[in-house]
Amino acid sequence: MINIVLFGKPGAGKGTQAEFLKEKYNLTHLSTGDIFRFNIKNETALGMLAKSYMDKGDLVPDEVTINMLQSEVEKNPESAGFLFDGFPRTIAQAEALDAFLTGKGQGITATIALEADDEILVQRLLERGKTSGRADDQDEEKIRNRYQEYNEKTAPLIGFYQAQGKFHAVDGIGTIEEVTKRLSNVIASL
Ligand code: ADP
Repeated sequence: MINIVLFGKPGAGKGTQAEFLKEKYNLTHLSTGDIFRFNIKNETALGMLAKSYMDKGDLVPDEVTINMLQSEVEKNPESAGFLFDGFPRTIAQAEALDAFLTGKGQGITATIALEADDEILVQRLLERGKTSGRADDQDEEKIRNRYQEYNEKTAPLIGFYQAQGKFHAVDGIGTIEEVTKRLSNVIASL
């Protein structure tokens, strides 16, 4: 069983790469952003709660996110492994994930970061906002706020996973195929 955390700033290409990796390694892809958006579309209570944070570019509170993620894992008991995309995003989430997986006799195999320069990413998100319909992609101020959230709350996870000897990083700039190859090379080395 392999459990991979795909890590990176907003716009780094986690969702795009996850589509390839989940097929190649037969993993269950769990994107917290996608799950929140699905709930918003279906007007669930969780969706309504998440929307108020997401529209501003703020993180959804840990407790809500952790409970949601755990229930998604529980829905897939036959899975050969998980590809976590957009989770964990805080130290509290990473600790909860470790405790949860340990309780199931499992753990995170590796965290792989897609690295890219902020300015390139902001431009990518503004471009995506023209077609994605996502409120958080259409306003530069909201995008900047997401980077601030990342720097304050998510970046400390690099040290967290380095301390466990599980942190890997690849260059996120290049063609989709080139980046997939870099990620595959890391997974092959695990
Ligand atoms: P991006 O990586 O481009 O910001 P996502 O779809 O991963 O896009 O996330 C969109 C939004 O969903 C985030 O800005 C945040 O509000 C919320 N979100 C997603 N994952 C988490 C998480 N693990 N913890 C808290 N909030 C989250």
